[in-house]
Amino acid sequence: MARVFKFGGGCLKDASEIKRLIDILAAESEPSRLVLVISALGKTTNSLEEIIKLGFEGKDFSSALEALIKDHCSIAKEVCKESEHVIRKIADIDLEIKTNLKELLDQKGKKYDFVYDQIVSYGEILSSILVFHALDQEGYKVDFLDAKEVVFTNARNRNGGVLWEKTQQAILDFMEESEKDIVVTQGFIGTFEKEFTTTLGREGSDFSGAIFASSLDAPSLTIWKDVPGIMNGDPKICNPKYVFPFLSYFETSELTYYGAKVIHPKTIKPLANKKIPIHVRSFYDPHASGTIISEKGLHEEVPTLILKKNQALISFTTKNFEFIKSYHLELIFSEVQNLAVAINLTQSSAISFSVVADFDEKKTINLINSLDGDFHCKYNFDLSLLTIKNYTDSIISQIEGSHEVLLKQQTRNTCRVLIEDLREDEKINIDVLENQ
Ligand code: ASP
Ligand code: MG
Repeated sequence: MARVFKFGGGCLKDASEIKRLIDILAAESEPSRLVLVISALGKTTNSLEEIIKLGFEGKDFSSALEALIKDHCSIAKEVCKESEHVIRKIADIDLEIKTNLKELLDQKGKKYDFVYDQIVSYGEILSSILVFHALDQEGYKVDFLDAKEVVFTNARNRNGGVLWEKTQQAILDFMEESEKDIVVTQGFIGTFEKEFTTTLGREGSDFSGAIFASSLDAPSLTIWKDVPGIMNGDPKICNPKYVFPFLSYFETSELTYYGAKVIHPKTIKPLANKKIPIHVRSFYDPHASGTIISEKGLHEEVPTLILKKNQALISFTTKNFEFIKSYHLELIFSEVQNLAVAINLTQSSAISFSVVADFDEKKTINLINSLDGDFHCKYNFDLSLLTIKNYTDSIISQIEGSHEVLLKQQTRNTCRVLIEDLREDEKINIDVLENQ
């Protein structure tokens, strides 16, 4: 039986962190085989996105690519005892990226999403090559698995839909043939019929971990994070003190729906279906117990803050003071469906209907333009949707005292407020636990 470990880019930023990964494996001396799902190092995916953007704008991307390749080569020197061979491989990939990107950009009718997937996927290839060689040269029995050989998706770029049966069979076949203790593969990437690369959506490596764990009927999926586990708030936006020891699949799905970043939303379902537990563990404190997500919930009401940034509020008001009726909603929702707008909250009043949706330059504007004939449309951008689960009156009044609230929705357990987007590094100053 193989266990699956997923390592995110947030905890693989430099050579010392790859060495830390090796130390973690050394301490995890269970006899079972391991599949390591590796995501791109640090901010590599963002850099590759920038390179693709420059390419599409007809600008020179060579220095941005050079910097990325240089970083990977210097890490190779530090983590691989015999680094020349690894550096040669990285140089081959450098050439491959340049050639592919140029060819793709020269093609007529090139589609951005298609080009994006072919190029952005190199981030994971580079990081997994480093981890593979570092482990191999450390004396581990390790195999390299290109995820494009086994993770089959439909042709949809940037959000590939997994073809589960085909994928499971391919993963099982590979594992049966491999005689190694550790298999290193990539998160985030897949293939359409081995013809071209697809990706599973930003931060999709957690989902890849779930694909491997579910296909292998693994005893667990371990997600190594740069936080101590799932906390009652994102440390980037507040100062949470509480690490959930347990969460149920249901509770975790809810948190990810509200915007918790700690796990990719798609990760839960395939594992919940097979009752495979997810263990979220601290990369920097591997002895800490972290969070176990399974059928067993916490049964304790801990106030929890979750923030979804970059939201748009759009209000559709009927012309001629007509009350909102179902046909108005039909008009709005058929456009929402056509444009694949992601709605996070709705609110209705006598003559207007408001939606809070993920802001997307094209989709949001198209939605407004296409309904402009039927309604008076008003909108605000650059907003954040703050959800407070198990709120207390004191938490709500602190938020209302420090932020302008554009919209509020409250049930017995959950309060959601729409506020201005936080500035870079701005925090919501509520000591959540003190307010219990
Ligand atoms: N490297 C990809 C990203 O940054 C996938 C992941 O990290 O999960 O979005
Ligand atoms: Mg990443």
